[in-house]
Amino acid sequence: MTDDPATIKAQALADYATYSNPMKLRTLRHAGLEIIEGRREGARTWDVTGAEYIDCITSAGSMNVGRRNPEVIAALKDALDRYDVGVFLLGSKPKADLARKLAAITPGNLKLTMFGVGGGEANDFAIKLARGCTRKTGIITTVNCYHGHTGLALSGIGRDAYRRPFDPLVPGFKLVPFNDLDAMAAAITDDTAAIMIEPIQGEGGIHVGTDDYLRGLRHLCDERGVLLIFDEVQTGWCRTGRMFACEYAGVAPDIMTLAKSMGGGIYPISATVYTEELGEFLIANPFIHLSTFGGSDLGCVVALKAIEIMERERLWEAALARGVQFRAGFDRLLGRHGEILREYRGRGLMMGLQFTSSSHGPRMAQQLARNGVMAMYSGNEPSVMRLMPSLVISEAQVDTVLQALDRSMQAIKEQDSGTVVAVDEAPAAKKRRRPQRT
Ligand code: PMP
Repeated sequence: MTDDPATIKAQALADYATYSNPMKLRTLRHAGLEIIEGRREGARTWDVTGAEYIDCITSAGSMNVGRRNPEVIAALKDALDRYDVGVFLLGSKPKADLARKLAAITPGNLKLTMFGVGGGEANDFAIKLARGCTRKTGIITTVNCYHGHTGLALSGIGRDAYRRPFDPLVPGFKLVPFNDLDAMAAAITDDTAAIMIEPIQGEGGIHVGTDDYLRGLRHLCDERGVLLIFDEVQTGWCRTGRMFACEYAGVAPDIMTLAKSMGGGIYPISATVYTEELGEFLIANPFIHLSTFGGSDLGCVVALKAIEIMERERLWEAALARGVQFRAGFDRLLGRHGEILREYRGRGLMMGLQFTSSSHGPRMAQQLARNGVMAMYSGNEPSVMRLMPSLVISEAQVDTVLQALDRSMQAIKEQDSGTVVAVDEAPAAKKRRRPQRT
């Protein structure tokens, strides 16, 4: 055993490469993200060797209340004096309290909750519910969408690279372009059970579903007898400047899936929330969907605390205010680096910078890491750098991120113009035709 941080890091990287996922480490090295996290706090994280970063990855929006939020930790510690995961076959007070809370804060008539552990699982159940209730098989999702790597959710994923190796996947899924209401209308058939959509595509490169599009989808679903599923796994929990992103359009889905920041960055938990009438499907077999650790008692206590913090601190307002500050900075960056930065997109603190080339994602990640910012490009679109900091990020920290972006873009331009020679691109990664994200 050693206390030397550099040795601890080297050993962790070696063991991870040997026993877990060497390919992932290679990609991370290429993106300058060979980080072994040590301390984490608020909007920041530290490598075990002490290097400090503002965390703009946050596991794609899983730490909205800040990393290691002390109140969430205290709630979990307190719960550990009384609870464990609980027996999944039984009801429990934490489960009941959280389900009631979800019914109260989610839009429209959403009322019943099926708990899970992660977002993919929540989406799997949403699809089961849609098929089970309608007795139809068709599920329409959108090009570049991401709903998880689990079975049913994977069948609807909008990226070939994730699906093809596992073909044939579950039949009945159809992809249409995002933000295209006509394409959606044309894709609906008599066998369509549901449309499943992220109000803002996250992994797909931060594409905002317009308010008209979401309203149009609601209208279309009502007209054609199709269920509407909103995947708010990433957009939920104040991230976009509303508790849930669909509030912008003022429409409610029939089924909403939630995960990530629901667990306060501390304990995994997810939920599929749906209308009471869809609950009839479970009358015949209440055990048609089970999850041993889904909605564990400890997870429910943590989620209740995380929600309490979001509501009390009005974190959607923080997301809006810091988002405005970021956008003012992005406008300046567009003026200075228009050759490589094409546009920015997003809402609140769900932000994407669209670069002119897919090589810019990994290169920006690398430069940003050098400048004290941990950020990652979009899984389905490497030309987009995603920025999803914790919602507790301060004004000063936003300025730091903006300065880091400025310096990083400057460095890339200098490399490209030959002013500076790029010495740090991993040759193995360079050879790959397209950068991958894990
Ligand atoms: N839906 C969306 C919109 C997501 O962004 C993700 C994860 N990035 C998932 C579902 C899957 O969640 P999980 O990884 O917890 O299964």
